[in-house]
Amino acid sequence: KPADLKELLDEHCIGQDQVKKTLAVAVHNHYKRVVHDQQLAKGELDLGNDPHSDVQIEKSNILLIGPTGSGKTLLARTLAKILDVPFAIADATTITESGYVGDDVENIILRLLQAADFNVERAQTGIIYIDEIDKIARRTENVSITRDVSGEGVQQGLLKILEGTICSVPPQGGRKHPQQEYIRVDTTNILFICGGAFVGLDNAIQRRIGKGAIGFGSAGHFEAMNSVEKRELLSRVEPEDLLAFGFIPEFIGRLPMMGVLEELTEEQLVQMLTEPKNALARQFKKLMWMEGVSLDFTDDALRELAARAINKGTGARALRALLEKLMLDVMYDVPGSGEIGSVKITRAVVRGEAEPLIQRKPGKAAA
Ligand code: ADP
Repeated sequence: KPADLKELLDEHCIGQDQVKKTLAVAVHNHYKRVVHDQQLAKGELDLGNDPHSDVQIEKSNILLIGPTGSGKTLLARTLAKILDVPFAIADATTITESGYVGDDVENIILRLLQAADFNVERAQTGIIYIDEIDKIARRTENVSITRDVSGEGVQQGLLKILEGTICSVPPQGGRKHPQQEYIRVDTTNILFICGGAFVGLDNAIQRRIGKGAIGFGSAGHFEAMNSVEKRELLSRVEPEDLLAFGFIPEFIGRLPMMGVLEELTEEQLVQMLTEPKNALARQFKKLMWMEGVSLDFTDDALRELAARAINKGTGARALRALLEKLMLDVMYDVPGSGEIGSVKITRAVVRGEAEPLIQRKPGKAAA
């Protein structure tokens, strides 16, 4: 059920409620359709009872719009884990139109095949996350006679695997070669989740909404908006805004479900450190516990970390980097020392104004 799916997503990902709901519904419908089609193929369904037997349910690939480090990849990966299907990540910027140097779209399918240990049937029901999808937007609005290598051609190339096609995948990867044996993979039931930050999309939405409303659409108005207002704009995204952003209509049509992720707040970043199953702070605690050492972070230390991450502007990613850096010395010194009983990280430690508070095990004298 979608609600169960969302609950499982909640265990791994903080916030982003609206997107989780969208994902839960899309994924539920997607796999319902897959199972239905499989039963149909095996002749297990009695179509006499189905008043909608002439209705084909189309696949709902998903577009995720949201800043770096807001959880797009995490959500896609978590879904695959929950559903126990193969998962692969691709980067749209490395894909080129076939015929140019770079990745062919077939290589994306190859990665999924590898994740499925070359079990074609399993791969055919997998999930592929395509990152940086916003980077393959056409840059210019005017149509040139020469083809746009970087944008439109790649969209065209992706289009066929998004909508479902039999893909001939070269098992060794790399460029296609006529003498190679191909593995045939049907992409009809592969769920594609595309994600990107879409910088400037808010501006395009503002221009659309602003038309007609005097003053509201002027350039100055957008400049004056604060980040909360701009985020609110994003949640009003319509397919036509993606068109203005540089996507071809067919491509937009293949991503009917859209979700907008929000930048995580300081509070949410603190939660992110401590609450999810694999929360970073918990990971470090476990690592230290394995060394026989108890590790603690004070609340204000966690808040300080979150605040610093927000200043860097890359959300959860910055947080991870900050914590890794902070813990480096501790992780270097503690293992094997045999004397240290506990380590406490305070706010002053995060600020670089103090050393971690270290308590030695009873009976061990200070060095
Ligand atoms: P994006 O794909 O949006 O750029 P990621 O999903 O790769 O961001 O997130 C980067 C890191 O931050 C990952 O380690 C992820 O676990 C963590 N993270 C990001 N968003 C969240 C969130 N909402 N809840 C928990 N962890 C998150």
